[in-house]
Amino acid sequence: MIEIDLLVSGDYVLPMDTECSVIKDGAVAVRDGKIVAVGCRKDLIDMYSAKKELGGLYRAVLPGFVNAHTHLPMAYFRGMADDIPLKLWLEGHIWPTENAWLDDDFCYDASLLACLEMLKAGVTVYNNMYFFGDAIARATKRIGMRGVVGAGIVDFPTKTASSSVECLSNAEDLLKTWTGDDLIVPSVAPHSLYTCAPESFSSARKLAERYGAPLHIHLSETRWEVEEIRRRYGKTPIELLDSIGFLSERVLAAHCVWPLESEIEILAKCNVAVAHCIESNMKLASGIAPVIDMLKAGVRVALGTDGAASNNDMSILSEMSTAAKVHKAVSDDPTAMDSRTVLSMATRWGAETLGLGSVTGSLEDGKSADLIVIDLTKPHLIPLYNIYSHLAYSACASDVESVVINGRLVVKDRVLITYDEDKILEKARIWGDKIKMSTLDS
Ligand SMILES: [Zn+2]
Repeated sequence: MIEIDLLVSGDYVLPMDTECSVIKDGAVAVRDGKIVAVGCRKDLIDMYSAKKELGGLYRAVLPGFVNAHTHLPMAYFRGMADDIPLKLWLEGHIWPTENAWLDDDFCYDASLLACLEMLKAGVTVYNNMYFFGDAIARATKRIGMRGVVGAGIVDFPTKTASSSVECLSNAEDLLKTWTGDDLIVPSVAPHSLYTCAPESFSSARKLAERYGAPLHIHLSETRWEVEEIRRRYGKTPIELLDSIGFLSERVLAAHCVWPLESEIEILAKCNVAVAHCIESNMKLASGIAPVIDMLKAGVRVALGTDGAASNNDMSILSEMSTAAKVHKAVSDDPTAMDSRTVLSMATRWGAETLGLGSVTGSLEDGKSADLIVIDLTKPHLIPLYNIYSHLAYSACASDVESVVINGRLVVKDRVLITYDEDKILEKARIWGDKIKMSTLDS
């Protein structure tokens, strides 16, 4: 018998391999943080002696979900301003509140809350864009989650920098501190073409290339953005970034709601990855991204929640369900965006878009043990004919029972075990009260 640290078993194990296979009565063997075997439970218990076991009867085991675009500290702005357009939402509410409140402590505490919410919804890795990246990375590391932490770059003064040059210097500090970490991947995140000049994008690209880091941007999110960039530069956002040599497989572009057919070809040719944020795009009435056309053209597409203030939750399970249904409705095709497609976007493809395809996103020998256990003993999950259908259309965040990241048990029986949940919630209440008082004063 070979000694292992953990055996996770379930009625259904979904490795999320290229065949979207299902192992009935399966198990995953974990040693030293890595997956050492995936197969039939009977075979694995004959072969391995596990120090700890997880899962069991009426459980499903699959890779943790990937949230491919978000802004963690905005968890503290949830519900502050709803039912208004993106530009007014940003300029009238979000940016003034950020200017008043953002600092290391705020971003650290708000990131703990965002990590708690995501972990309890089965998200094991996120792709973030914000300021105070070091505080966000420290909170994530402390709680034991995996994250790609983007250093936000804008041309105007913020609480953390007076110019894009200072933003780039902060970004380099983040890259120096966190490159090579086992959970955190630092990245460079020029916000958008309406907040950063093309020169700032070029500097960001050079910095990312020097450190082998990913690039994370907002792109073609609203009609207003496309018109504004055309007015300023005579090109659409995607054409402009292509013309300055910014686009490559290093780039993950959030939204891409308004690409022309010719621009989808550019995204495919340059191997740019796209984070589809359907619920945020719907809530801000930004439009519906042509995901089916992008997938047909060979563009890599993952799912993102965007920040909690424009969604208003950080669950990829609900993004899957919404994306699958909306694209059927708009394409007038009930076969579009089937359950296997959205689950692939939420797991393996998601990890690939973040440059983490060899690390996480599927249950395969040698990959990091980043996996979740779903409790199938719920009224909305019985009877079960097709596990992909239940996960895409019926399961919700509260069905996630346990979460393992890097082989470490992070959530057990729906309780975070790496940090006191009550403390995270209490911090959120205190910050919320302070923000509420200040808006009443003004
Ligand atoms: Zn965003």
